[in-house]
Amino acid sequence: MSQRTRTKVAAGNWKMNGKVSDLKEVTKIAHAARQRKTVFTLLCLPLTLFGRVGGAGLSVGAQDCHVSASGAHTGEISAEMIADASATHVIVGHSERRTDYLESDCLVQQKAQAVLGAGLTAIICVGENREQYEAGQALAVLQAQIEGSLPEAANSNNVIVAYEPVWAIGTGLLPTNEEIQSVHSEIREMLGRQVVDGEGISILYGGSVKGSNAAEIFSLPDVDGALVGGASLKANDFIPIIEALDAAEA
Ligand code: PEP
Repeated sequence: MSQRTRTKVAAGNWKMNGKVSDLKEVTKIAHAARQRKTVFTLLCLPLTLFGRVGGAGLSVGAQDCHVSASGAHTGEISAEMIADASATHVIVGHSERRTDYLESDCLVQQKAQAVLGAGLTAIICVGENREQYEAGQALAVLQAQIEGSLPEAANSNNVIVAYEPVWAIGTGLLPTNEEIQSVHSEIREMLGRQVVDGEGISILYGGSVKGSNAAEIFSLPDVDGALVGGASLKANDFIPIIEALDAAEA
């Protein structure tokens, strides 16, 4: 399947950042996103801002969810509640959750299943850490994460995969373009073996994407977009990334 038939996605992850005073950034990003029609732009915001962006006309996602639809889980939010707040996507298995909260592939799979059950799209994150990268274990790690984290009901309409080498997140370090393309192509094959229309799943690269490196990353044939942390917080940083994706050859 060519890149043209896969959705190009620019997804921002604001993590635990953003107050009402930052909504002007959302408004500017939404305005720019409307001009770039080949790109699906999404901001995964803190839940506290969900009810505030209604008029911005931008798709909104959450950064995590609980596996259950409701119940006695103090401090948690369910995929059903996220859907009820008009969000469309949920990130699951981000490396910060896998590392800081010891989330296993099995839990990530259950969360992804909950996301699909609520009618939303799951952005499932995978990626090797530095030791695994240096030991040449990246592909084995990714294979295990993909096998363990994707729910049975996954397909190209309800799942996006984000390849985020943990050592590249927030560090300014990046794999070479050859490494990114090669890993994305391997992930595409893994998805093709595991999911009926797996080769049509959009695969995003994540880890230190900026306006200055976006165009070359998006020129790689198996890169369908980016999951962006730090550079999604400010419109002036995120808009050039959206523009680079819009300009990328399909
Ligand atoms: C992330 O946390 O998913 C991420 C890609 O962060 P950054 O863009 O800041 O490296």
